[in-house]
Amino acid sequence: MTQNIINNLITQLTRLPGVGRKSAQRLAFFILNLPKDDAQALAEAIVDLKEKARFCSICSNIADADPCDICRDEARDRSRICVVEEPSNILAVERTRCFRGVYHVLLGALSPIDGITPDRLKIKELVGRVQNGGVEEVILATNPNTKGEMTARHITELLKPLGVRVSRIAYGLPIGSDIEFADEVTLSKSLEGRREL
Ligand SMILES: [Zn+2]
Repeated sequence: MTQNIINNLITQLTRLPGVGRKSAQRLAFFILNLPKDDAQALAEAIVDLKEKARFCSICSNIADADPCDICRDEARDRSRICVVEEPSNILAVERTRCFRGVYHVLLGALSPIDGITPDRLKIKELVGRVQNGGVEEVILATNPNTKGEMTARHITELLKPLGVRVSRIAYGLPIGSDIEFADEVTLSKSLEGRREL
């Protein structure tokens, strides 16, 4: 019986991205040994997320309120919008503590081959925000790969005529890496994004 209960949890955990059978076993036994309150809190956090999470109607970030915390925050600079592909990308940019503007989540990147055309992304909504006025700069922080580049180019073409400044994040080489081992895309992008010293 116990075996089945443990196996059930292991099976569920194995469905998580990046969790193999071994990690799932370790996590399952870790949870088994947790105090009941901690295990309960973990389970409730998952249920809460599914019940309360919604998309912000302004930026499409995932939040428990609409508008989201960032869009509601009076201290954020609304003249600067950082465009990202996924809500999780916001966390990455926030961790840098370099950006005090607001965000716009596209909920994906262009990929015509997979049927992801501009109308499937939150691009129209971004254009609408810019047209509403008060936006000085749109920073495109889509991923530095083919889809992300295509998406950035498409958005640039739409926004340029509106008279807003459109910028693209510069890609650096990872600190501690060697130019010799950098792929061409990374290296050419880091050359493009060079700044004067
Ligand atoms: Zn928002």
